[in-house]
Amino acid sequence: MKILIVEDQHRLGRFLKQGLSECAYTVSWVCTCREARDALADTNYDVIVLDLGLPDGDGLNLLSEWRRVGFNEAVLILSARDSVEDRIKGLDIGADDYLPKPFSFDELLAHVRSLLRRQSAVKQTVINHRCVRLDLLGHTVELEEKAVDLTSREFALLEIFMQNAGRTLTRSYISERIWPGLSDTNLLDVYMSRLRNKLEAGLSEPLFKTVRGVGYRLV
Ligand code: CA
Repeated sequence: MKILIVEDQHRLGRFLKQGLSECAYTVSWVCTCREARDALADTNYDVIVLDLGLPDGDGLNLLSEWRRVGFNEAVLILSARDSVEDRIKGLDIGADDYLPKPFSFDELLAHVRSLLRRQSAVKQTVINHRCVRLDLLGHTVELEEKAVDLTSREFALLEIFMQNAGRTLTRSYISERIWPGLSDTNLLDVYMSRLRNKLEAGLSEPLFKTVRGVGYRLV
């Protein structure tokens, strides 16, 4: 389980990193919006613990950027701003949880555990979108109730879209999940076109939308 801490207060950041690492989580800690952007562009996390007052910007803007481009990591806001309005604003922008400072470490741990549990609970084994049915256990795909033959990479690619229907997924987000460590993003275009050939041929409306310069969206 990977956790990203975005916190500019050094003592707190260090304390969180150490405490969570001791609980067997893989923890990265960054202090600025810029570093957080880079970290998330690089890899995916299971939970992000996000401070709001950061030296080069506001954590809320960062969060809304991530949601706009389709990052669906669970986000726990950790902030000294604890009015009801602040909490509502954070949740509306796309935070999954809000913990006001000061907090106890055990309380934070309980929130992190609950976010992780919620994530695994929503992982369904059969996902339906329009006329596509993807069975994660059986590893099968049906289009209008007819089996479609996909390679394992094509299947993994379709799974990412089915888990995030309606969200624009960036090229790097997708590539990192299908081909970790490989920087050749042309591969993605090749696979997208194969997937489209197999799935969109008989449909009146396309399944995938290309978002120019950003990535793709399942529509
Ligand atoms: Ca701060």
